[in-house]
Amino acid sequence: MDVRATLKDHLIKERAASIITKGKQKSQLKCDTDSVAGCVSQRACVYCGARVVLNPVTDAIHLVHGPIGCASYTWDIRGSLSSGSELYRNSFSTDLKEQDVIFGGEKKLTRAIDELVEKYPSKVVFVYSTCIVGVIGDDLDAVCKDAASRHGIEVIPIQSSGFIGNKAAGYRAACDALLRLIKPVEGKLPPKAMSLNYLGDFNLAGEVWIIKNYLKQMGIDVNVAFTGDSSYDKLKKASSASLNIIQCAGSMIYLAEKMKDLYGIPYFNVSFLGLEDTAESLRKIASHFGDAETIIRAEEIIEEEVSKVRDKIEWYRQRLQGKKAAVYVGGGFKAISLIKQFKEIGIDVVMIGTQTGRKEEYETINELVDEGTVILDDANPSELERFMTEKGANLLVGGVKERPLAYKLGVAFIDHNHDRKHPLSGFVGAVNFAKEVYSTLCSPVWKYL
Ligand code: SF4
Repeated sequence: MDVRATLKDHLIKERAASIITKGKQKSQLKCDTDSVAGCVSQRACVYCGARVVLNPVTDAIHLVHGPIGCASYTWDIRGSLSSGSELYRNSFSTDLKEQDVIFGGEKKLTRAIDELVEKYPSKVVFVYSTCIVGVIGDDLDAVCKDAASRHGIEVIPIQSSGFIGNKAAGYRAACDALLRLIKPVEGKLPPKAMSLNYLGDFNLAGEVWIIKNYLKQMGIDVNVAFTGDSSYDKLKKASSASLNIIQCAGSMIYLAEKMKDLYGIPYFNVSFLGLEDTAESLRKIASHFGDAETIIRAEEIIEEEVSKVRDKIEWYRQRLQGKKAAVYVGGGFKAISLIKQFKEIGIDVVMIGTQTGRKEEYETINELVDEGTVILDDANPSELERFMTEKGANLLVGGVKERPLAYKLGVAFIDHNHDRKHPLSGFVGAVNFAKEVYSTLCSPVWKYL
């Protein structure tokens, strides 16, 4: 008996409701649930979800209460850039060992906070709990409260033990921490004041700055970006903006909802990935403010920027036409933009999945893809391998955990999530994306496999 085949079939069967093929099944895709035990999900843990959202707060001390592996796994993981402090690029850890697990880690945590605050003056410390802290039951809230009153700064516990849910629970824990920082401001701006918060951009390779520049040209000020290139002082005044726009809905819609309830700030989703979505997002923002001059300026910027990149995109499209892509990314909104962006350069998406996509996002994905495309939520490596092979994908777009899988299969790969050196947002990012797709897909290396 082929044990491997039996095991693989069994895993697929257990997860049948989380995988559909467009045109073959009419049922709703099962999503936003915990991973199937033993299925080796590609999803990151709760702690990782919280860390990736909060880490770009540049002048905060980020202290991971747990074994060293949790801190090193997420150390400077995304390539977020800062225009000020570089403190966030450290990955401080209490480095819990066997003895701490037996006798408790609270004293070690207290000492670590004291030492860090003395060495690195900061107004806020984020303390992340990890799996083992959830198991041994250290009282993070009490330790942080004591430390806050001792040092006169904010010490915020993040309840993010890896096993207490899925990555989306980490996003919520991070948003709750951010909400603790935001305070009502005096002299709030009028409802249509040209100042907005930009949520769900982590300033990978300086992407926040590109979008800020477009908005500035339209006469709109970015009050604070969550959390790319943000700081304690900027976050404090987040409630003064008149609008929240959200790029990464998976991680930030919870915060936007809360800010709407608490501070009356409306929100909507945007996407600055690809020419079509970038242009549409600028139009949407301009029309929200409703000012004729802003609307005209948005059209001028779109025309100006598209004319700079149109020929370049066309050059890549002619060379990439007919290739097939597989996509496996964190959130649904990015997946939706990637389908459109691949269409712009002549590539079909034949398999697409996310770690934390929501029902409405999967509905949009289903509308956008062609018949026969496999759509899957919270996949494992075995499923990715099976469907990429079955569908003949030439390229996989994913994150750090998907890269080895693609290379083992002899498939080109693009990391859309971590440690990027060039921006993929805005009009300039659309060209960078096309260039990267071309470089990896058309590399001579694939001939030698
Ligand atoms: S919190 Fe748990 S699952 Fe997450 S990295 Fe640490 S040990 Fe692994």
